Amino acid sequence: MKEQDPTGNNKPLIVFAGRSNVGKSSTIRVLTGKKVRVGKRPGSTRWEQMIDLDPVTIVDIPGFGFMSGQSKTTIEETKDHIIESLESWSSRILLSVFIVDISLFRVLFERWSSRGEVPVDVEFYSFLCEISPRVIVLANKVDKVKKRHIDDEVDYLKFQLREAVSDREPTIILSAAVKKQGMRELKGLIDEILDEEGLEKPQWAFT
Ligand code: GDP
Repeated sequence: MKEQDPTGNNKPLIVFAGRSNVGKSSTIRVLTGKKVRVGKRPGSTRWEQMIDLDPVTIVDIPGFGFMSGQSKTTIEETKDHIIESLESWSSRILLSVFIVDISLFRVLFERWSSRGEVPVDVEFYSFLCEISPRVIVLANKVDKVKKRHIDDEVDYLKFQLREAVSDREPTIILSAAVKKQGMRELKGLIDEILDEEGLEKPQWAFT
């Protein structure tokens, strides 16, 4: 079944995805000036939002992973819905921005791995690499990592992403969305990709 695009257009898609609370809404707001849900309640929003940012459409995928107050069935339903929607749009996806909380990546990765499970960040990154020709990883909340540990944490993230998807060299941008750090680089990289595709630059809110 084809998912309806609520914007009613057929523009190329830029997908923003990440676990709840990684700073996805903050990033989209800095870049587009559009207030998408920014909330303290992890996972409180369920379905994707589309932002028309001519010549592209930004897709804000709801935070996955832990969802407070939601039953396991609801969480599974949400995950299935996200996957179905992304698969049905895959021919239109130009790139995905996958946001991780670099201050928590290692601890969450180790926790999931020690339970014998595939860490959800890595699982989702692998999925995005299957359906999206380009994936930019935004290592957000770098302001929460001690300066002397930043390189180690980024190397760890890069290593795990390479382990998960060996045929793609991860593209990682460090950021602190609340401080607008890394946003210029992210915007620059997106613009470069749009340029390669012969598309105009959108009207970013951030200059
Ligand atoms: P989302 O659930 O991924 O959309 O995350 P939000 O954008 O709603 O952010 C979740 C919380 O993290 C909010 O309290 C934000 O102010 C905070 N936050 C977002 N980005 C950063 C960042 O780069 N550094 C820090 N320290 N906090 C951030």
